[in-house]
Amino acid sequence: MARTKRPVDRQAVTIIQVKDPLCAQTDPEMFFPSDSKGDGYTTTKYAKDICAQCDYTVQCLITAIMNKEEYGIWGGSSPRDRRAIKTRTQAITFVKKLKDERKK
Ligand code: SF4
Repeated sequence: MARTKRPVDRQAVTIIQVKDPLCAQTDPEMFFPSDSKGDGYTTTKYAKDICAQCDYTVQCLITAIMNKEEYGIWGGSSPRDRRAIKTRTQAITFVKKLKDERKK
């Protein structure tokens, strides 16, 4: 049987109660940079570095996609990143790549 790709927002997702995520221990403004160039680029990179170390990255990313979050860094993704992610598998792959890149 061929596997079909279902959109993220049609999948059963368990919304977890996140306790003390790393972003709550830093400046929240960092996760909402004013632009993606100059200081905004540096801030975005730093926010993604924090997300890469978080225990809730996949859940956070999927929740952001389901909620159609248009702004900010969620689960290590920028708004542009999120627009490109259409399936749960793509979300998991995105997070794995993010975490692998930050280990190097
Ligand atoms: S993955 Fe989500 S919960 Fe974790 S630090 Fe990033 S924005 Fe916060």
